[in-house]
Amino acid sequence: MTTFESRFVDMFPADTQTANHGRQVHDALYSRVLPTPVSAPTTLIWSRDVAACCGFDADFCGSPEFAQVFAGNKQLPGMRPYASRYGGHQFGNWAGQLGDGRVINLGEVSRQAPGSLTLQLKGAGPTPYSRGADGRAVLRSSIREFLCSEAMHFLGVPTTRALSLVLTGDSVVRDMFYDGNPEEEPGAVVCRVAPSFIRFGHFQLCAARGEHELLRRLLDFTITNDFQHLQTGSNSASSRSEVYSLWFDEVCRLTADMIVHWFRVGFVHGVMNTDNMSVLGLTIDYGPYGWVDNYDLNWTPNTTDSEMRRYRYGHQAAIAQWNLWQLANSIAAVTGDTGSLELSLKRFSTYYETKKQDMLASKLGLRQFDKKEGDEELLASLDVMLQQQETDMTLFYRALADFDPNNSAASFLDTITCALYAPVTPGSDESAVINAWGVCYARRVLRDNVPWQERRNQMNSVNPRFVLRNYLAQEVIDKAHAGDYEMLHELHSVLMQPYAEQADYSRYAQKRPEWARHKPGSSSLSCSS
Ligand code: AMP
Ligand code: MG
Repeated sequence: MTTFESRFVDMFPADTQTANHGRQVHDALYSRVLPTPVSAPTTLIWSRDVAACCGFDADFCGSPEFAQVFAGNKQLPGMRPYASRYGGHQFGNWAGQLGDGRVINLGEVSRQAPGSLTLQLKGAGPTPYSRGADGRAVLRSSIREFLCSEAMHFLGVPTTRALSLVLTGDSVVRDMFYDGNPEEEPGAVVCRVAPSFIRFGHFQLCAARGEHELLRRLLDFTITNDFQHLQTGSNSASSRSEVYSLWFDEVCRLTADMIVHWFRVGFVHGVMNTDNMSVLGLTIDYGPYGWVDNYDLNWTPNTTDSEMRRYRYGHQAAIAQWNLWQLANSIAAVTGDTGSLELSLKRFSTYYETKKQDMLASKLGLRQFDKKEGDEELLASLDVMLQQQETDMTLFYRALADFDPNNSAASFLDTITCALYAPVTPGSDESAVINAWGVCYARRVLRDNVPWQERRNQMNSVNPRFVLRNYLAQEVIDKAHAGDYEMLHELHSVLMQPYAEQADYSRYAQKRPEWARHKPGSSSLSCSS
């Protein structure tokens, strides 16, 4: 039987007010608030894997009680719901207090294994942090969050998880295109699960308000629960300050690792505001995210960011570093050692670059990245080539694994034609560029001398065949709006084995169709959710 505890609630001061209305909250990290009941909860889908981690069996997950609990109508024994307080920089500007405006935490599952799991409902009604909004979420954005966070997990990308997606039976009004045409949409609640949902913004708001003791306690809590290996046992001021610096260094590395993974699979978060950055380096808050179809470093799916492109695919590492600067600024007051924080920030760049090079070498099936072998040039010319001719990134790397460097170097174009969005004529200048890269790549692979099958298997373990292509997510949504959830279940199950061939499901491993190129939802998304 799963039991719940409330370490966060027990550890920190609560907001002294208990009524559920918007307000600025001082000297407290959370407000107690109950989910607002919904009229007719039905569970659309749940994750077996996450349920097992939480200790829920299939009978419970299929029961009406499960739908009631994970829509917010009822709490299990030990759940003490609350909304947490945080702040953040949005699109580079300090936004002050934000907080869980449409998230309500239920509590933590106590587990035998070290580390707890926090369960939270997204879309469960207003909280003191809702800033006038309704605290609800629509079905389309909930499907996107459920499917994508699960897909990311099975791709090996650090992420928050999703336990369930429950239809509320109530409608929610949204102006999806911000064009003055609000419409009623079905409402839904996703239950998200993670070891911790603590964000950069939690620390930032404490610092901005001068609440240094609370900031220290939040640091200690985070380190005790999620970074146990950093603890020294000594409580002297100097050793605490040292642990905080080590912690920040680790947050820098975890964040860099996450961005390397995003780059590997072609994921663009879309809203990398500091309130959407987890200190555990987990991908968090799935909003107007997107997946790169044709490889394009400048692409962003978020219509709100279409001018500045602050959060574009190729800029995510730079933004992560900027966000880490903001976190460093916030904890500087309590670590007393800005030199070490600065050093960690500097190291971020070199660490990220090295990790990215290693990752790209593994995508190419090389034993390791080697400057002396000309790998820098090989990667740079690949970057140009993939963007000159619109090339589907996912299909390209899978095709590359089938490339035989002994036989087909001169006609490399044939190998990758399946990934091109517009045909390239054999004999053209474009084909010469592509084949020339193929020749360089073949030479490099032959020098490595890895047996073809071995190279192929290794490549297919880092280059997915199935990703949550934007247009597929939109197809699932369109069908769900018509009451058909079959594709939701099928795609969810396909995405649980993204590296496997799954020949029966090749329809989910195709290039973006032409109709989806400019269709809202399939190529661009607003923040309305
Ligand atoms: P996001 O851009 O989704 O990360 O959201 C930024 C802030 O707005 C967070 O504090 C959210 O909790 C809040 N928020 C977003 N949508 C809603 C909503 N429908 N109701 C209440 N708060 C919301
Ligand atoms: Mg957010």
